[in-house]
Amino acid sequence: MADCLFCKIGKKEIPADVILETAEAVAFKDIRPSAPVHYLIIPKEHIQSIAHLQNNHNEIIAKVVYTAKAVAEKIGLKGYKLVFNVGREGGQMIDHLHLHLLGGWTPTPNENR
Ligand code: AMP
Ligand code: ZN
Repeated sequence: MADCLFCKIGKKEIPADVILETAEAVAFKDIRPSAPVHYLIIPKEHIQSIAHLQNNHNEIIAKVVYTAKAVAEKIGLKGYKLVFNVGREGGQMIDHLHLHLLGGWTPTPNENR
């Protein structure tokens, strides 16, 4: 996809703060973090969204999830959220599948429990 921002990040045509890269996936810092720790994991292959997955995408989607796990291990993050936004109604603004890795909140002890 010639005009896709995340394809360009995957091909290093646009800079990003990359923390981990494999043959199939790239993980980089979200430019407008919505959590203390916020990374995005993308497949290098252009897939529009989870709703556009085909049967041959099993392996690539597994690799995206394993890359998120590897990022968490690399930075010592014990707990985190993994989020796929799907479609505009699901909050997806960039039409290249990406997994949000969110974390870094301080647990609040004894709060209304
Ligand atoms: P979504 O709303 O699920 O499509 O998420 C897109 C995410 O991409 C948002 O959290 C943006 O802050 C992030 N983003 C947009 N442009 C860039 C960029 N050039 N580098 C890193 N993250 C970006
Ligand atoms: Zn793309």
